[in-house]
Amino acid sequence: MSVLVVGSTALDSIKTPKAENPRLLGGSASHAGVAASFFAPVKLVGVVGDDFPKKYLSLYRQHNIDLEGLQVVPGKTFHWSGEYEVNMNNRRTLGTELGVFATFSPALPKDYQTTPFVLLANIAPSLQQHVLDQMRKPKFVVADTMDLWLNIALQDLLKLMKRIDALVLNDSEARQLTNDDNVITAAGKIHKLGPKFVIIKKGEHGSILSGPSGLFIAPAYPLKKVVDPTGAGDSFVGGMMGYLASAKGSIETNLRQAIIHGSVVASFCCEGFGLKATTKTTRADIDRRVRELEKMTRV
Ligand code: AMP
Repeated sequence: MSVLVVGSTALDSIKTPKAENPRLLGGSASHAGVAASFFAPVKLVGVVGDDFPKKYLSLYRQHNIDLEGLQVVPGKTFHWSGEYEVNMNNRRTLGTELGVFATFSPALPKDYQTTPFVLLANIAPSLQQHVLDQMRKPKFVVADTMDLWLNIALQDLLKLMKRIDALVLNDSEARQLTNDDNVITAAGKIHKLGPKFVIIKKGEHGSILSGPSGLFIAPAYPLKKVVDPTGAGDSFVGGMMGYLASAKGSIETNLRQAIIHGSVVASFCCEGFGLKATTKTTRADIDRRVRELEKMTRV
């Protein structure tokens, strides 16, 4: 089955203590879409300006990503710039230029509207809702978010949460959303706001799934070297949704494996700037790391 991914399609300028890379292919939908494409066909919804390099469109195509829902309009592509400290868990946003995203109104092609798996990757919750409004009976809807929307669009996010099956957010966002310092009890409070499944990301320390059959504690793949963690969260959720769309059986049964596959795709993402390492990865590389991770965590 296929996955519809809506989110930011961006140019990212990224600075780490070791290097600086301007105008890379980035955005939550780019990272999530490429990650999902290792497992299932992807339909992309987003907008770019007429400055968007053709080679980046080719890159999406190389991953068999359907671009019928990607608008190319006059103006500037969304541009995000960020800087990492020596401890790469600490990132500072240097600038966000919305460009063509400021007036973006997603209109889904007809054959996108029946896509069974819907990934509302990080973008304004009002846009995530607008996409969901156009979907017909999706099988599984997951939304990702970020602290910015908790700060400036909380009411929209709360409305969205009543309409989704799963919410993915990081531990500090879970604490902020619930006013609770304990992520386990925070997950319980998030369920009460709507989603049946809550997935809390803890960066290099893995993630926690909370659902009807309890908790699942998922590790992150232990990397010796992180080059650039930008997009790791998006790759995680993209890999997870791609795996779910490709797997037979019930979603709840497949979610644990899906999370492990998402963690592994995220690990590849961290090994290069932007999408450089992810796009060089193969399904065989992913499966190899999944086996390693399973071996490392078996009790
Ligand atoms: P992550 O490292 O998983 O938090 O995701 C980083 C990606 O999010 C980058 O590729 C950015 O282009 C994108 N991004 C940053 N700020 C925003 C925003 N306000 N809305 C949507 N996407 C964003």
